[in-house]
Amino acid sequence: MFDFQSSIQVLRTKGYKLTRPRKRVLEVLAQAQKPVSPYDIQKVLQQRGEHLNHVTIYRILDLFCLLNLAHKVLSFGGFVKCTLGEEEGCHRFMVCRQCGALREFADKALCDEENEIAQDFGFRTEQHFSEGFGLCSNCQGQIF
Ligand SMILES: [Zn+2]
Ligand SMILES: [Zn+2]
Ligand SMILES: [Zn+2]
Repeated sequence: MFDFQSSIQVLRTKGYKLTRPRKRVLEVLAQAQKPVSPYDIQKVLQQRGEHLNHVTIYRILDLFCLLNLAHKVLSFGGFVKCTLGEEEGCHRFMVCRQCGALREFADKALCDEENEIAQDFGFRTEQHFSEGFGLCSNCQGQIF
């Protein structure tokens, strides 16, 4: 399980300090039940008596995404904490449009295939962003 402590470990291993703002944002992400926007994060922190401006929060989220500690969920536009850690292949999500369930996965073979497609276009891709959007196993077959 890629938990809060593992995230801190990655941050330190990569040579980044665990500053107070970084720790606070990581905490909010770890506790969030759904994707959160920088504004959501700011609001939660404000309730805890911490004030961080948007620029700081955006910068921290950028860093977390770069280090695979957090990801942006494309269809929701918010950020979530990574649940995979150091798994091979780009981290992606399947998103349930009904209940909002998120399933993170990484598939190296999928990345390889996408790299080949890119090569056909003369591109050399370094990262892939894609998402599956539909219904989770719980929501399939239910009538709404
Ligand atoms: Zn991840
Ligand atoms: Zn669902
Ligand atoms: Zn990839």
